[in-house]
Amino acid sequence: MNEMIDRAREQFNSLVIESRIFVIIGSAGILFSLISTVVNLMLDLGAIPVLSTTLTTVIALLFVYQVYKTERYSYYSTIILLILTLIIYPVSWITSGGSQGTIPFFFIFNFIIIAVMLKRRRIIPMILLNLCSFWGLYAYEYFNADSITYYNSDLKRMIDSGIFLTIISLSLFFVMYWIMKEYNKKIGKLNETREQLSLLSLTDTLSGLYNRRHVMVVLKKERLSGNLLSLIMIDIDHFKNVNDTYGHNIGDEVITRIGQTLKTNLRGSDVISRIGGEEFLVVLRNDDQEIALRIAEKLRSLVEDLKWKNIQGVITISAGVYVSNSQDSVYDMLEKVDMGLYQAKNNGRNQVVPYQENQERIEAVVS
Ligand code: GH3
Ligand code: MG
Ligand code: MG
Repeated sequence: MNEMIDRAREQFNSLVIESRIFVIIGSAGILFSLISTVVNLMLDLGAIPVLSTTLTTVIALLFVYQVYKTERYSYYSTIILLILTLIIYPVSWITSGGSQGTIPFFFIFNFIIIAVMLKRRRIIPMILLNLCSFWGLYAYEYFNADSITYYNSDLKRMIDSGIFLTIISLSLFFVMYWIMKEYNKKIGKLNETREQLSLLSLTDTLSGLYNRRHVMVVLKKERLSGNLLSLIMIDIDHFKNVNDTYGHNIGDEVITRIGQTLKTNLRGSDVISRIGGEEFLVVLRNDDQEIALRIAEKLRSLVEDLKWKNIQGVITISAGVYVSNSQDSVYDMLEKVDMGLYQAKNNGRNQVVPYQENQERIEAVVS
């Protein structure tokens, strides 16, 4: 038994949201018409009201089952609305109390179904049909009051109205509550996905560090806020040799491990990104050149000390350091820290060199 319920629940959750709403509204409808049947019997309103509510129960059951199986919720909603508006409601209106009875309430329920379940092009015609139906019934009743079976006591009328007002209010509450819950669940899921996506769009997949795009955004933001920024640009030395000797995969592992080593030895407020193949940029906030140089030197020495399983000897990095001044554009900063790096390569690699004012970039000298 429990297994059956679990399976049904699983199947229910796999339906599109409209089908699930149909099943919920339909089940409310089944409950509704069952209670109506009992109340009609108890109030002794005659055979026709009892028959029509029984018919509604059967139709609702059948359609809920069909939608469960086929998911054609709009199609079955349209048919059920047509049957209710054109047959069940008019018959019940005439045979159980007319405008003083409970049928006018039921039209409210139809409008919920129209709003939630129908395809767009069917909405306006169905609204018009419903308006025509109940206004037509009021008009019919006005001119043919004799043909309406009214309640034979005020008590019956009040009991019937009271019960139906309760049922309709509670079911509408239940349906709307459930729809809102589903809606919030979906929004929650969407937000989660959005957060994951935005994190992915900031991240470099190989190293797990921030990517170039993100560090550019950080630099622009920091520059606008006027904060002092220290940059360290790092490039792995003779990396082509690693690739050529050990293959691209080992090369990738080296990039990842060095990236992680740099990251774990920086502070939470520092931003480190992989801005190119085997190049990294570190952004330190509010540090002067002395601190920046010390940090860069620490990173250089940490990488030099790494032991490699698949590689003979050591792998080293070179770094340029630059502390921005307020006139620098982001482009200037990157240009200058890059000049420090070139100088470090030029001086024989495996070292840290700060940018110097009179430094000229002589690309030809860099091998
Ligand atoms: P230098 O000391 O002057 O930096 O020498 P280098 O050999 O490191 O020279 P360069 O920086 O110009 O070369 C970088 C090489 O890194 C070239 C390219 O084949 C390799 N590379 C770039 N991106 C990747 C990557 O994602 N994975 C791997 N395995 N190699 C990469
Ligand atoms: Mg290199
Ligand atoms: Mg390079």
